[in-house]
Amino acid sequence: MRVRKRKYGPGVPPPQERKPFRDVSRFLKETFGAKSYKVCVDGGFTCPNRDGTCGIGGCIFCGERGSGEFITEIGIRNQILTAMEKARVKHRAEKFLVYFQNFTNTYAPVDVLRAKYDSALADGDERIVGLAVGTRADCISEEIADLLAEYAEKYYVQVEIGLQTSDDETAKRINRGYPASRFTEAVQLLRKRRLNVVAHILPGLPGETKEHLIRTVDFLNQHDIQGLKIHSLYVLAGTRLAELYRAGEFEPITMAEYIDWAVYVLRHVSPQLVIHRLSGDCAREKLVAPEWILKKKEIHDQIIGTMEANGWKQGDLHPGTTCGESAKVNTEGTDR
Ligand code: SF4
Repeated sequence: MRVRKRKYGPGVPPPQERKPFRDVSRFLKETFGAKSYKVCVDGGFTCPNRDGTCGIGGCIFCGERGSGEFITEIGIRNQILTAMEKARVKHRAEKFLVYFQNFTNTYAPVDVLRAKYDSALADGDERIVGLAVGTRADCISEEIADLLAEYAEKYYVQVEIGLQTSDDETAKRINRGYPASRFTEAVQLLRKRRLNVVAHILPGLPGETKEHLIRTVDFLNQHDIQGLKIHSLYVLAGTRLAELYRAGEFEPITMAEYIDWAVYVLRHVSPQLVIHRLSGDCAREKLVAPEWILKKKEIHDQIIGTMEANGWKQGDLHPGTTCGESAKVNTEGTDR
């Protein structure tokens, strides 16, 4: 495999403008006809894997904020307005998807969910075009899927499920609290209503090798999902994973391994999947290890550069893809 850093210079478009995969920013721009941006919201939820309903302490890598470590504003509407303004100024975003990110955003009675989603989407703000909800596979029921389907009549709705791995032994080790079969059930419930599903995976979990990742990709390929987030696992201060790391019982994978593994995933998933993420996002002051996680741009550049140097594209090794069918390489800028 040839690994090459992308070059910059006259006549060479930057990597983000020629992604060999179906990039989310381009997908959103095409879907909504304008630069679109996801604004993250902390809806004040908790998680059944923390409050004792299905577990205590949560997944071993999960921080005290249940992801969304960067959100600071209080109140759903406030958070949205502040985040939209920032994205408008910084990224020239015109359309927005509200993303309920922290903890488990379908873990509440339906009337409470409705009130929270309504408060995010209400007041006829035409700039808001979508609702994205991060959740667990065991927190999707018929009732909740019906509720989300109501919003799908007016908005683009995306349900993000933190699968992390298809391996049930690893799932126990990381204290996920449900088997992979629950993911299958959740996807079926959501797809019955044509809701968009985005799976999250975490290469490099404790005890996992590339073989585990290969099996996770095979598992995902058996599901009707529309998007994928590949997170690079990091050790966050205050987590059980940090204790394991300090005790020498967990060693993060290297950046070179991550690049290789991420490229493997991209080549083996469907060319139709929208790729929402290729790295993790950790606040520097809370990061324990590995340091390379902070080099987001380099991670992206190396993934893109490696694929480009070898003439690879998303889905070119997907079992259902025939020659020439894989994702088209973007030829225009994505502004991100
Ligand atoms: S399911 Fe999500 S929010 Fe709950 S403990 Fe695991 S990572 Fe954290």
